[in-house]
Amino acid sequence: MSQRFFPDTMPSPLADAITLPFWEAAAEHRLVVQRCTACGRTRLPPAPVCGSCQSTEADWQTLSGRGEVYTYTLVHRPIAPEQPLPTVIAVIALEGSDGLRMISNLVDSDPDEVAIGAPVELVWEDMGPDLSIPRFRLAAT
Ligand SMILES: [Zn+2]
Repeated sequence: MSQRFFPDTMPSPLADAITLPFWEAAAEHRLVVQRCTACGRTRLPPAPVCGSCQSTEADWQTLSGRGEVYTYTLVHRPIAPEQPLPTVIAVIALEGSDGLRMISNLVDSDPDEVAIGAPVELVWEDMGPDLSIPRFRLAAT
């Protein structure tokens, strides 16, 4: 069982045919990105065509979940009842990709200690039996 950081009232992401494999892997606590099998570039969010070579062939690569804060902001106005404030929204530079960045939340971290370049690690939040959300927290240095 994972730790919970946000209330059930938070809006949930919607999967479609393109993003479904990402969410299925997330439900198994694996952070995956698409990798073009023609040119090898990774991409996030998932897309039907490679932005580099226009190939439609791709597979999925599992990442470590480590990275660093590329940038962040503190949100002081809630979008859902019982949302903890301030909420840290961060752009995470993902280790092991071609410079991919993911927008997520920093949780379980003191907002005053968040800084650009700070190392982070993945933490899964199980919002339901089939929905796990990748979030990040400051990594021990
Ligand atoms: Zn490609």
